[in-house]
Amino acid sequence: MTRGTYLEPASLDEALRLLAEHDGAALVAGGTDLVVGTRQGKRTLPETLVAIHRLPGLDGIAEEDGALAIGALATHDAIERSELVRGRWTALADASAIVGSPATRHVATLGGNLANASPAMETGAPLVVFGAEVELRGQGGSRTVPVEGLWAGPGRTTAAAGEMITGVRVPAPADGSGSAYVRLEYRRAMEIAVVGAAALVTIGAGAVSDARVALTAVAPTIVRSPAAEGALRGREPTAEAIAAAAAAVHDAATPISDVRGSDAYRRAMIEVMARRAIDVAARRAAGEAVPIPATMTVGGTR
Ligand SMILES: Cc1cc2nc3c(=O)[nH]c(=O)nc-3n(C[C@H](O)[C@H](O)[C@H](O)COP(=O)(O)OP(=O)(O)OC[C@H]3O[C@@H](n4cnc5c(N)ncnc54)[C@H](O)[C@@H]3O)c2cc1C
Repeated sequence: MTRGTYLEPASLDEALRLLAEHDGAALVAGGTDLVVGTRQGKRTLPETLVAIHRLPGLDGIAEEDGALAIGALATHDAIERSELVRGRWTALADASAIVGSPATRHVATLGGNLANASPAMETGAPLVVFGAEVELRGQGGSRTVPVEGLWAGPGRTTAAAGEMITGVRVPAPADGSGSAYVRLEYRRAMEIAVVGAAALVTIGAGAVSDARVALTAVAPTIVRSPAAEGALRGREPTAEAIAAAAAAVHDAATPISDVRGSDAYRRAMIEVMARRAIDVAARRAAGEAVPIPATMTVGGTR
């Protein structure tokens, strides 16, 4: 058995240089996808690993010019606990709070979740409804892409060789907004979404002035549902309006069958998840303190 090379750069510049110098090298942050997947035989570990978990300055969670700035190395535990995230970007806290187990959340990072590009990833749908942008940096400089533009398909990103995610910028929702993320899960921990939905609802003068809905694990990447969003806008967020919007998600849902669920089951359940996510988002927009994570609150109650 050949032994691979494990490199631990001390700075971002050094990490980018090593990434450029070692063809086929992979970054490893928390290692919960890369290393665990290798142990489970899902992939072979690349010849060279560039470990970034100790790089300084990439784990911040702060408000910058009214937007939320999160470093790629912020862990799900830190995101879930952040009062800033919980207060204004609540759907993201809902999502990070249910990743894996406490042990997973303490080491697993936002950057790793996004770069893994799984259609079942937890943080993708919330970031899509918030209109987040991802910063990619390579030796040649940095560029920003809308989060939806980061994914090319299951397990594939649009990042060029030698580029890494350094952070995410999440615009602030308008006043009068509430958000939520919920998923269908077969058990309470160590689970990934069978399907999931995020919603951002803005209410003004008693009616929905803006709405965004994104779906998890029903297409090759996280997708928005323009039909559900359109069905909500201009309407009072009544149970009937929310149910009608949820019923419209089938414009965007093209699920597959796999060991975790059939396409028909996913199609039926995505409507339920969308209804729950929109309902909680609307209640939060109205000032109701629905506990985080929303999945634990609404799961099985209706
Ligand atoms: C038991 C268990 C339960 C899990 N449960 C969930 C769950 O409920 N929901 C969920 O969404 N995920 C879940 N996961 C998957 C995983 O924990 C998350 O995707 C996590 O956020 C990955 O982060 P990481 O730092 O560990 O990534 P790593 O394993 O370090 O890296 C993952 C991939 O991203 C690349 N990468 C890492 N950082 C960067 C960067 N900054 N820039 C570019 N590329 C990068 C790596 O090269 C690798 O390809 C689970 C995993 C395990 C083992």
